[in-house]
Amino acid sequence: MGISTITASRIYDGQSKGGKGEENSLVFEYAPYLALSKTYSVDQQTPDSAPTMTAMVTGIKTIGDSLSVNQYVAHSEPNANVVEANKLTTILEQAKLNGLSAGVVSTARITHATPAATYAHTANRDWEADSNRDAGATVPDIAAQLVDFNITGGIDVALGGGRTYFLPNTVTDPEYGVAGKRKDGRNLTTDWLKKTNSKYVWNKTDFDAIDPNSTDHLLGLFEPSHVHFEADRLTHDKAGEPSLTEMTTKAIDILKKNPNGYFLMVEGGRIDHAHHLGNAYRALSDTQQLSAAVLAAVQRTSPKDTLIIVTADHSHVFTIGGYPQRGNPILGLTQGVGAKTPDLDLLGLPYTTLNYANGSGYTGASNAQAAGSKTFGAKDGAWASGSEGHSPSSYSAANGRPTLTNALVQDPNYLQEAIVPLNQETHGGEDVAIFAYGPQAHLFHGIMEQNVIYHVMSEALGFAK
Ligand SMILES: [Zn+2]
Repeated sequence: MGISTITASRIYDGQSKGGKGEENSLVFEYAPYLALSKTYSVDQQTPDSAPTMTAMVTGIKTIGDSLSVNQYVAHSEPNANVVEANKLTTILEQAKLNGLSAGVVSTARITHATPAATYAHTANRDWEADSNRDAGATVPDIAAQLVDFNITGGIDVALGGGRTYFLPNTVTDPEYGVAGKRKDGRNLTTDWLKKTNSKYVWNKTDFDAIDPNSTDHLLGLFEPSHVHFEADRLTHDKAGEPSLTEMTTKAIDILKKNPNGYFLMVEGGRIDHAHHLGNAYRALSDTQQLSAAVLAAVQRTSPKDTLIIVTADHSHVFTIGGYPQRGNPILGLTQGVGAKTPDLDLLGLPYTTLNYANGSGYTGASNAQAAGSKTFGAKDGAWASGSEGHSPSSYSAANGRPTLTNALVQDPNYLQEAIVPLNQETHGGEDVAIFAYGPQAHLFHGIMEQNVIYHVMSEALGFAK
């Protein structure tokens, strides 16, 4: 959720409410304190989400793909003793050690890098189920680490996707019938129920029925992999799944019962996935949903006792360009002030305001995407859960630009143009914003190393010595 994503989402949100858009503000833009975060990791100029979240929750930068272990652990270190000896204590673990409650919420798999860095220690972010690990590895997989986390009763709330990573391969998924991914025979969803006052839910009806007052440990896994993009959630999900806002609300209502307080991590994890697919529409509508989740959190807490931080782990190569006039549709063709037709490039071709520096939207001289964009996704189901890893469309590279004159550029499935053809659009390396409310929020100012976020949380929670 780089700054261009925030700006474009602000405009998209404003236009979806009937305004011109530029004057609008997302909820977290009202936060009184702001800083920039330097996101590089120990070995990456442009990072992945494992070392960036490790920096935020442990105060220490590490190498790519590593989750809450120090930089001296080799990538994919198989030996559990080596990982144990080099693990970094997380703010979530400190919260539990100090008698607070703790929760993680994401629209990604709850075993994906960002949520996992809060509770798991491993030098390979992809070891989400035991079957994903290298042969002979003794480091526990991430799903097992979530359920086996045993500090002061364990994690209190975990809501997101990734159900098959918790189910044995002898059990089929209740919603889609696919097999579980676990080879060790464990059903981690039943293991979860050994906790006190615990519930496990996998659909919206059961989620809605959870009474926060009588439930102390809640595991909710709403898809075999990532949950749906917000744009597809209501129309595409078989059994129904809660929104990020609904998950955030339920999590706070359970956690806030603890008089000592709580730590909660909430991730709008699919903003990143939509960008990787080269699809601005879903990135913007998922950012809009994150803003709604922040509103729910602001309304349920007081800035007198609750620090709320909104940030990104890294950016994407996403730009807002040209000279579109005020109120020009953010997903549309660029049209200048007073113009009656879209602006044209040096080839005499119109172009969109939103573009990517690389990714799957590259069509070269082909206009195939423009003509066919309505059929993307419907054809191959690419917008369904788990679509992070591949592109819904691919074209052989050619010279020049596509003719967008009659293109459906505002279609939800349109992929914005990209300069460099790649299967997946990549992360961006520039600084991201930090927005903050509440105790110690004033410590965010200027340009900061990403790992300082941990130290502000630690100070606010009274853990700093
Ligand atoms: Zn990513």
